[in-house]
Amino acid sequence: MVFWGKQEQESSQGGQAQAPQALPPHYIGTLEDAYQELFKAKGRAPGIDLAIKLSDMILEHAVKERASDVHIESQGSNVRVRFRVDGILQDMLNSPKNADIPLTQRIRVLAGFDPEPPASFRNEEGRFQKIIANRAIQVRVSSFPTVNGEKLVLRVLDRQQLGIDLEQLGMDQEALTTTKKLIRNPYGIFFITGSTGSGKTTSLYAMLKNISTPMINIITLEDPVEYRLEGINQAQISAKTGFTWAEGLRTILRQDPDVIMVGEIRDYESAEISLRSALTGHLLFTTIHTINAPSIIERLFEMGIPPFLIASSMLGAISQRLVRKVCPQCAQKAAAPSEAVVSEFIKNMDPQEGALIKELILKPGAEYKVEKGCSACRNTGYLGRTGIFEMMLMNEEVRKQVLDHSPTDLIRRTAIQTSKMRTLLMDGILKARTGVTTLAEVIRVTATMV
Ligand SMILES: [Zn+2]
Repeated sequence: MVFWGKQEQESSQGGQAQAPQALPPHYIGTLEDAYQELFKAKGRAPGIDLAIKLSDMILEHAVKERASDVHIESQGSNVRVRFRVDGILQDMLNSPKNADIPLTQRIRVLAGFDPEPPASFRNEEGRFQKIIANRAIQVRVSSFPTVNGEKLVLRVLDRQQLGIDLEQLGMDQEALTTTKKLIRNPYGIFFITGSTGSGKTTSLYAMLKNISTPMINIITLEDPVEYRLEGINQAQISAKTGFTWAEGLRTILRQDPDVIMVGEIRDYESAEISLRSALTGHLLFTTIHTINAPSIIERLFEMGIPPFLIASSMLGAISQRLVRKVCPQCAQKAAAPSEAVVSEFIKNMDPQEGALIKELILKPGAEYKVEKGCSACRNTGYLGRTGIFEMMLMNEEVRKQVLDHSPTDLIRRTAIQTSKMRTLLMDGILKARTGVTTLAEVIRVTATMV
């Protein structure tokens, strides 16, 4: 799951925000230090007691470091613990396996598995909840057998870290106003696209939360239900019991919905039902897997959806990514790149789009920053993340291209020219210009395909 920047969280949650709890003394120092301390008790305390302490310690550190995932891996004679922080994996602990601390067994038991992994492979998924620093932290556990031993991945779901207000996603005022208007349409379908971990689920939740009132019936279909939202009817897809996306959608439509959120559209059947119900008085939000907003139309064509159905039901689409924000403690001012560097960078782009990018990067008045590294950011130079967005709106010109079955390039160009669509890269450059992130980070993130 996605964690937005901590500072954003604290400043914008207003009255609801809980002050961060004072950390107990053992938080000082790294997980490695804490482990060494614990290890001294080996032989004097039973292994299982140490495992309980160690698993608690790992989770406490994970929450403190804002980790979204914890990887516990058997690697030859070592057990390695890594945290994913701001989208990047970091080594936290390398412990000799002969330490006799049954860490993986402890986590397996917490997750509701048998203490030992099954002899033959079986998909194991579980979850548990833990109170850390007075907050209920939900942990989803997945086990995977590697040739070196078991690998456990713990997804850490910390509600307080999840910026679930529309205002916290990182949209500028203009995009925010447009989005609020769009999601108040009485009917139509709105798509969000982005790679795994791009924050699209968070955006969907933020949109639902923004329009949720007791006067409308909001129903979601999700796989899995990541967060429980108050006042919203959430349902979990289950292939095992036959509650598929398509079946779920058909059932939902008999539940008198106003707004429907479909976690993902990936086949003709669910796409067709969704688009048709958008035409008959329902507002739908969904995600679809493509590299940018205009490609959504191509993807729907590929699924076999007729152009007229897309043109008449689609309200628009957002593509998004998360960029790391530069650490405010140590970021340094940077000069704009030279014209030669920018020309090289844009040389393979569509000429018109390239010209826009060049102008945007070189326009005077930018306050570019470059990352450095300090203790506040664990020497990475970055702290927290924020979203960048590409918002494509349906206007007459784009609709005409859809009806003409035009290729993605043409739809994209039309959207840029007629509705001033800002691409992911353009929106990222704007964030770099104001010193929120760096140009290098924007290029790294937008160069990544699905
Ligand atoms: Zn720093």
